[in-house]
Amino acid sequence: MKPMLDCDTVMRQLWAYLDQELTEDRMEAIREHLAVCARCFPQLEFERTFLEQLGKLRREHPNPQTLRTRLVAALAAEGFTAF
Ligand SMILES: [Zn+2]
Repeated sequence: MKPMLDCDTVMRQLWAYLDQELTEDRMEAIREHLAVCARCFPQLEFERTFLEQLGKLRREHPNPQTLRTRLVAALAAEGFTAF
């Protein structure tokens, strides 16, 4: 059995994971960690939502100033208020 990744490693590579920029082995290891780790999982949900909203808003709002305001509002609507 492979050793479990620690939370710090997972957190550091979370963006790369969401962008699918890691090796298959590393993607799998992070996926396994996130499936069982209560500490990392909310962070994953936040970053996933953040990326989704950012991608969507970028298409709708080319102006960066408008984009930021809309992004914060969109994340608040998803329940992410610590921002
Ligand atoms: Zn963790």
